[in-house]
Amino acid sequence: MFSSDYWQARDRFRKAAQSLNCVLETHPIQALGPQEQSLSIDVARYGSKSPQTTLILSSGLHGVEGYCGSAIQWATLTELLPKLKLPKGVALLLIHALNPYGFAWNRRCNEDNIDLNRNFLLPGQSFQGSPATYARLDPFLNPRTPPTYRDSFILKLLAYAICYGMASLKQTLPVGQYDFPQGIFFGGQAPAQAQQILAAHLPIWLGKTQRVLHLDLHTGLGRWTTPTFLVKSQTPQDTLPWFQQTFTAKGLKVLGQQGATYVSRGDIGPWCQALMGECNYHFATVEFGTYPLLPVLKAIRAENQAHWWDTSDSPTYEWAKSLLLEANAPASSAWRKAVVAQGVTLTRQAIAGLEQ
Ligand SMILES: [Zn+2]
Repeated sequence: MFSSDYWQARDRFRKAAQSLNCVLETHPIQALGPQEQSLSIDVARYGSKSPQTTLILSSGLHGVEGYCGSAIQWATLTELLPKLKLPKGVALLLIHALNPYGFAWNRRCNEDNIDLNRNFLLPGQSFQGSPATYARLDPFLNPRTPPTYRDSFILKLLAYAICYGMASLKQTLPVGQYDFPQGIFFGGQAPAQAQQILAAHLPIWLGKTQRVLHLDLHTGLGRWTTPTFLVKSQTPQDTLPWFQQTFTAKGLKVLGQQGATYVSRGDIGPWCQALMGECNYHFATVEFGTYPLLPVLKAIRAENQAHWWDTSDSPTYEWAKSLLLEANAPASSAWRKAVVAQGVTLTRQAIAGLEQ
């Protein structure tokens, strides 16, 4: 079941976790939401108290994408887990709304305009630099004007694709940039609050766990309702076959770095793997497809324009917000039903895969 806003989603998550006797934690984020209510990352732990193996399901790293991830977490807590006997030594760690500000305001990025999946830099990487083409395209990607209904974004982008080459654009647009704080795909200039919370608590939540499977739930990439796994690993030759054998769903794709649409830095997955160096840590970004890439990009761009250059009572502001919401949580009840069912099935397959 999809929630109508972040607060309803968080409330449902907490209540469902409590009724399963999960250990529940709340980690506040210092930023006010639209109703000046508190925002938080909430964490529920279920199963073994001293697990050998932990399945992590995290949601909402990209704010507005949290509607889907939260609905899958809620269905896991209310439908799957009550009927399932967890294997001995296995625990589930559910992390709700890694970017609660973006979820609450229907933004992809956080309270500092940071795209969190570009913020988790590894030791030695610096919060500086942008692809050269991004700097050249900045006026086009991030116009300093309110969004307009008639915008030839897609046509212009195709023209740039002809000019620069599609491969170059794919390596430019979504990979992350660290120089344009009001721009899209901005990775920040320091570790974001969510990263600090994970750095302090993930080792405690995982305890002596030796094996981790982390599925980070997203939307907006791939075909309508279809799940795509983007597997991040230092040793893809070992992990890709395991993912391919463990997970099955209609149309499901498992892609390694090579097959991915783009390679970005600051991904949460490799950062978690580096933090938990002693663990055998398998990580995948799980994307549920909505619309094709260009309309999704168009929505991300329009919402960013609205956030910076429009007023919140203007019709174009509302329109841009609704574009981004529809791009990540389509109103279609068939889409919603399908992704939640797929998400629960994948969680069941993950638990079965960890048992082996
Ligand atoms: Zn995402």
